[in-house]
Amino acid sequence: MNDFLHALKIVDDLCIGCSLCMNICPTKAIRVRKGKAKLMNNRCIDCGECFRICPVGAILIEQDDFGLIFNYKYRVALIPAVFFGQFPSKYPISKIYQTLIDLGFTHVFEVENGVDIIKKATREILSQDHDTKPLISTFCPAIVRLIQVKFPALVHNFTLLKPPLDVAALYFRKHLQNQGADESEIGIFYFTQCAAKIAAIKSPAEEEKSPITGVINMDSAFNKVYQKVKQENGDSSVQIPVTAGFASNDVLWSLTTGESDTAMGRRMAIDGIHNVIAFLEKLEQEENPDFDFLELRACDESCAGGVLTSENRFLTVERIKKRVRKMNAEQPQTEQNQDILNYEDELRRMIFVEEIKPRSMMKLDEDMGEAMKKMKLIRQIVQMLPMVDCGACGSPGCYALAEDIVQSRGLMENCIFIQRRYEEKGMLKPSDSLQIMKNVWGSDKFESKKNQNNETDESK
Ligand code: SF4
Ligand code: SF4
Repeated sequence: MNDFLHALKIVDDLCIGCSLCMNICPTKAIRVRKGKAKLMNNRCIDCGECFRICPVGAILIEQDDFGLIFNYKYRVALIPAVFFGQFPSKYPISKIYQTLIDLGFTHVFEVENGVDIIKKATREILSQDHDTKPLISTFCPAIVRLIQVKFPALVHNFTLLKPPLDVAALYFRKHLQNQGADESEIGIFYFTQCAAKIAAIKSPAEEEKSPITGVINMDSAFNKVYQKVKQENGDSSVQIPVTAGFASNDVLWSLTTGESDTAMGRRMAIDGIHNVIAFLEKLEQEENPDFDFLELRACDESCAGGVLTSENRFLTVERIKKRVRKMNAEQPQTEQNQDILNYEDELRRMIFVEEIKPRSMMKLDEDMGEAMKKMKLIRQIVQMLPMVDCGACGSPGCYALAEDIVQSRGLMENCIFIQRRYEEKGMLKPSDSLQIMKNVWGSDKFESKKNQNNETDESK
């Protein structure tokens, strides 16, 4: 099985080796070597926590070039509700639509058009008998990857439904084709709030082809649109009339409880990657009562807290809820877009993802016997380490260092406690210890401190 494709890249030249990313990563996917953070592809789930914490912007989230849209005759901006939640309420949605058209798109289509079909399918799945419970939503791609790598026994619990954005894209392609567009002329561009969605679109869980052509990061799209909307000072001379093709509550789908509120049975919504991990650890130990459905989201406040959003997540949630109240007041009868209903049977045959398989985060060896030996060795090494998880070895904790030693990615002597013991026994010279630390943290850190100290001494 291939490595995951990732949207995140660490730029060596910018990285100062502070190790903040290593310490926050929920899957221990980062090491520091030669003073630079290194990403382990098979462990990263694209949650974006490292991007959020990096103090110098050394972690980038790659996106498609905006100019790519002009390769297509039909250029569709596929927009989630969270994008509109970035804008102060004084800018009407119709104005934002118009600005997107001014920027070069030929169509604007909202992701929430795809919610109704997924909502109905979720309820149907939940109404059937299942040996495996609780069922876990496949909406958040970082959670799907988390379960694949860290909780592989739970892959059988997935609902295996595509997210609304895929349904919306599949529908709009069909809609344009029925109006005479050729498949090759259609470009559908999703405005994403997170890295995990980019990775899922570019490399879907089970390698299916995504119906989305390209991905534009929400923060850069917001800046482009906001500058233009502001310049025009809210002028609303030419505006596209916006008729939501979905029920008002569908707008809440990507927020915390948006999905579980419409599900059935005993259900729970958990947001924040570390909260989700803590809960799944309990679930694995069967410490939790009998749930039917779990909505799990990697970001706090779900998609409103995505790493590529520009606005405060609580404010975004408040604005989205305000929109729902406005929709209820203005169009209480709004229901699913009739044209989508015409395609419903066809779309419903396309909304399931293939079975999602576990991905080994720590495959010790192809040979089972060798893997068992290595596992035993890890346990023995752990016994010798101080278990203080200081991270001075450049690995995120003592257990991770033990794994790294067995996988030839680290040395016993990387541990500063072991170094002292070896020095005491004459097995290591202090200069060797210094060289080992330079290999982990880079020479610069030691030399610059020395120079600084010399400068301080001279100035006394
Ligand atoms: S994106 Fe998440 S899983 Fe990947 S390296 Fe960063 S913090 Fe770790
Ligand atoms: S947070 Fe990670 S990527 Fe950013 S400077 Fe620190 S070590 Fe480098």
